[in-house]
Amino acid sequence: MLASYAASHPATARGIIAGLLAVLLGGIFSGWEALENAEINQTKARLQLESDALARLIEARFEDQATTLQRLADRWEYQRTRHEIWRGDVGNLLKDYNNFQAIEWVDRHYRMRWIEPLEGNEEVVGFTYHPTHPNFDLLVQSQEAGQPLLSSSFELQQGGSGLAYYVPLYRPGYDADYFDGFLLGIFRVEVLVADLLRNLPQQRLSLDFLDENTVVFSRHTADTLPDSWSVRSSVQLGNNHGFSIMAYPTRQLLASSTTALPLMVLITGALASLSLCYALWLALISAQRLEALGSSNRALQSEFIRRQAIETSLQHNQARLKLILDMTDHSHDALFIIGLAPLELTYLNRTCWSELGYTEEELRNITAISPSDIMPEAATWTVALKQLAEQKSSTIFQQQARTRSGELIPLEISVKHLQRHGRDYLICVGRNNSEQLRVAARLEQLSHQDGLTGLFNRRYFDHTLTSEWRRLRRQELPLGLLMVDADHFKAYNDTLGHQAGDMALQMLADALSDCLLREGDCACRYGGEEFAVILPGADLNQCLQVAQRLHEAVAEMNISHPAAAAGRLTISIGAATIIPAAEWSPADLLKMADSALYQAKAQGRDRTSTDSHQFSSQV
Ligand code: GH3
Ligand code: MG
Ligand code: MG
Repeated sequence: MLASYAASHPATARGIIAGLLAVLLGGIFSGWEALENAEINQTKARLQLESDALARLIEARFEDQATTLQRLADRWEYQRTRHEIWRGDVGNLLKDYNNFQAIEWVDRHYRMRWIEPLEGNEEVVGFTYHPTHPNFDLLVQSQEAGQPLLSSSFELQQGGSGLAYYVPLYRPGYDADYFDGFLLGIFRVEVLVADLLRNLPQQRLSLDFLDENTVVFSRHTADTLPDSWSVRSSVQLGNNHGFSIMAYPTRQLLASSTTALPLMVLITGALASLSLCYALWLALISAQRLEALGSSNRALQSEFIRRQAIETSLQHNQARLKLILDMTDHSHDALFIIGLAPLELTYLNRTCWSELGYTEEELRNITAISPSDIMPEAATWTVALKQLAEQKSSTIFQQQARTRSGELIPLEISVKHLQRHGRDYLICVGRNNSEQLRVAARLEQLSHQDGLTGLFNRRYFDHTLTSEWRRLRRQELPLGLLMVDADHFKAYNDTLGHQAGDMALQMLADALSDCLLREGDCACRYGGEEFAVILPGADLNQCLQVAQRLHEAVAEMNISHPAAAAGRLTISIGAATIIPAAEWSPADLLKMADSALYQAKAQGRDRTSTDSHQFSSQV
């Protein structure tokens, strides 16, 4: 949780780490400072101890010598003569205690009498202390108190600092001891202190010997530490409290009394803090990387899920596409897609090639190299298709396709324009409509046929007469027409019944059909028991020949007609022929034939008449 917080708030985490480092370093520095101070204080305490010990040593050494001098003074009282004492003891004393500069006897008038050794001190002999002398008061004081007293330091006549220790002397008198001057020990400060310091290693400390605040002796080594390190110890020599020593540690002493512990603590602490903070820093970076890794993992996972969904959808779509293609392949209709610019067969289903007896590859190759081998009308159809694409419309074409075996299959092809991704396509659905065409043809035929006789009906007659009229007019050929009517047919019906009448009409129709030999000749039921025969290109003679064959055929059938004079069914024919011209119409030809028929009826029936007088261009 902390790691995720740190990863999501890196600036805060960095601040905390930096703060922690500062606190740790501060604490370590404080610790180092405390340790250093403790060591310094310890060093100072040790120095103070050493200094105090040295002070006591000086005091003891002085005391020792002072005592010796006092003992000598004691003997002054009891020896017979001063000379005996002086000669006997002072020399020895000087030998034993080399700290003395000199030992002197000052008589009760404060005059220097004797001095040992004399050598080097001759000029002092006879010197008298006057009240102006700095030590004069001390002499008086010592005499009055009967106590030995030590002077402050003074400049020796021989140079250097000296101390004078005045021991009052007494000699036995008649009734009491009398004052006999002073036994005076002159100490040379340098010698006294140097002697004391002789056994003390010089490197450890430097020191000053002070009288009050005046340095009277000094011994300093080169690596002495500054004054701030100094300690002071008072030195009481005799009854004089004005002395002191000031001790300064040397670097060597400091080195021996301090340890590397504070520095070690500082360095190791700093290193540990840096290591800790570095570890935290690394942990932060690691947490950030982990967080980044986690988020990229999550992104990857969602991408993976998304791709899985896409793949599933793709598979689903592929399955659907395959299903659709399968279904398309099993369709009875030929489905193919033509891509334009460039023109190519983009897709075709199984029906396209299997129905034509080819493999898909064969069909594709043929359509690419020689499309007319498959579709005889391919060239014109391609032009029509391009026009359709330009108009972006749809239509239905009737085409023919040739199978591998050469059979032509009629195809009704529904074509629709479609544009996808900027390209034009034509979606074509082709169907073999031979059956449909056949039915249509049959229906058309039926629409032209008379139901009873099977001949063409009146509507077809009108249409054919007009179309033949136009055709023959262009060719300037004659158009012949026979109007045929059954004679006394009402009576036939009345006599033999309507059904027999129907049968008779059928027989007449068969005879008419049989008699037409030329292609294009057309027999129609004009209405009731009346028939019309169109004879394109037939002049009047040819018309009459046909009419004659008709009479013969009817006669040959010999259909019994009880009510007729001939006893059989006969027909009357009106024949007319004309070369069609602009000033006439088919109706005129019809009128001519009708008129001729009327004449045949009028002339007694069972005959053919012509109408030759009405039009000048009659053939
Ligand atoms: P004509 O010799 O002058 O032609 O005398 P007709 O009796 O044949 O002529 P009409 O016009 O007076 O009579 C025609 C008859 O034909 C009347 C009708 O009963 C008969 N008829 C017309 N159509 C049919 C048909 O489809 N079937 C049958 N059975 N008779 C028909
Ligand atoms: Mg009639
Ligand atoms: Mg009739």
